[in-house]
Amino acid sequence: MAERFDVVIIGAGPGGYVAAVRAAQLGLSVAVIEEKEPGGVCLNWGCIPSKNLIHQAEIFHALSEMEAAGVTVNRSTLDYGKVQEQSRKVVRTLTGGVAALLKRHKVTYVKGRAKIAEKGRVTVDDERVIACTNILVATGSRPMEIPGFEFDETTVLSSDGVLAMTQLPRSMVILGAGAIGCEFAYVLNSFGVEVTLVEALDHVLPAEDFEACAVVEKCFKRQGIRLRCGTRATLLEKVNANIKVHLANKSGVEDVISAEKVLVVFGRTPITGNLGLEEAGVQLDERGYVETGDYNQTCIPGIYAIGDITTSPALAHVASKEGEIAVEHMAGHPPAIRRVVAELVPSAIYCEPQLAGFGLREDQALEQGLSVKKSVFNYIGAGKSVAIGKPDGLVKLLCEPDTGELLGAHIVGHNATELIHELLLAKHSELLPEDVESMIHAHPTLSEAVMEAARGIHGRPIHG
Ligand code: FAD
Repeated sequence: MAERFDVVIIGAGPGGYVAAVRAAQLGLSVAVIEEKEPGGVCLNWGCIPSKNLIHQAEIFHALSEMEAAGVTVNRSTLDYGKVQEQSRKVVRTLTGGVAALLKRHKVTYVKGRAKIAEKGRVTVDDERVIACTNILVATGSRPMEIPGFEFDETTVLSSDGVLAMTQLPRSMVILGAGAIGCEFAYVLNSFGVEVTLVEALDHVLPAEDFEACAVVEKCFKRQGIRLRCGTRATLLEKVNANIKVHLANKSGVEDVISAEKVLVVFGRTPITGNLGLEEAGVQLDERGYVETGDYNQTCIPGIYAIGDITTSPALAHVASKEGEIAVEHMAGHPPAIRRVVAELVPSAIYCEPQLAGFGLREDQALEQGLSVKKSVFNYIGAGKSVAIGKPDGLVKLLCEPDTGELLGAHIVGHNATELIHELLLAKHSELLPEDVESMIHAHPTLSEAVMEAARGIHGRPIHG
């Protein structure tokens, strides 16, 4: 007789493993099937290794600042292989932590490739059959490959390839200035690689507020990163040990740049093929994303889908929250929300300066003809930013003019990815800028810039 569980989860990324732990907390019997390593892309080839590389890049970069204090470090002895070793060590620690977490919650962990045989039945490696009441699909995504820009992972790299690289190239062209492109531009440039960052749209991080992005662009240029915004890559050509990248700008003017390697980060593709989804009747859109409704249910009762395979923002924290929502629904514990609300999802980009935000952007307000009250407070007005040598940045709030309701917040600067949460909590709890203003903020902190931006909504910043 087939083994039986209340829920079988396919994929142990931040969507799948968090759902498994939450389901176990709610008393459900749970099996997680994972074909690679626990932790998914996030822990193995995404958030965690990239953040470790950023951390090491920051330290390397900061060494030059010590020269003002008379300390000179010979930076030419950098061994990038060792940098990578550190990054993989962090990955092993955290994936081991996820495995231990699943064990502690008595989740059955099955290594293998899962496929939905039918509603209520999953096979592993086409052999083992597991029966269940509910199936949660959390199979994530892979780097998007575009004809003409195929990865060979030697000279044309995906994010997986650049995260596995143990030697630094002399030069790198990065195609795509989204979060991943900007983070690698920062890392590689900090370690001394000549970086050119190419973006088809008008500014880096096109999904973020333009005023915040302008600060990132200014800092990137100062750091030595060459920016080519409003420019498309049209062709890659391998010539001897180099790769030539053909570019065309918006006016059609063409040129060619050359580098040792190219990193292509145009986006991600959901992993929904060969999973038995369509055979089971689950609806996919034309790009292969699973269509979901409330509680992340698909159109087939008993089959749920979360994370990067759905059309919600492709972020680890979204996958995790969706996992919680889905299993709470399965367990008959109505979750507080039916689905993740995109306006309440924080974005977080970890280059230096960092950028984080949520909700309405100013360009959207302009496009929609919305009248908003805006407050911008520059980091330099908060003493801490000057004390730690990080004066570039700003906190920007957009509020409804009559009620003062917080519609959007965007922070660029040091530690922006931590600072955003005070404003997000305010939004979440329906607090107003004056509530943020009235709370005493410790001095000196960067959080004072958040308080000052809140004061600015009523025209009373102290230091601005
Ligand atoms: P995944 O993490 O992709 O996990 C899916 C799992 O399913 C994988 O382990 C896979 O092996 C497994 N699987 C697939 N098919 C099967 C099958 N048939 N049988 C068994 N197992 C299967 N997000 C952030 O929020 N913050 C960041 O800083 C951040 N940085 C990133 C940096 C990079 C370089 C990249 C590439 C991504 C980054 N992301 C970041 C995005 C984040 O990694 C994803 O949004 C997140 O991992 C999605 O979680 P998931 O659970 O949906 O899928």
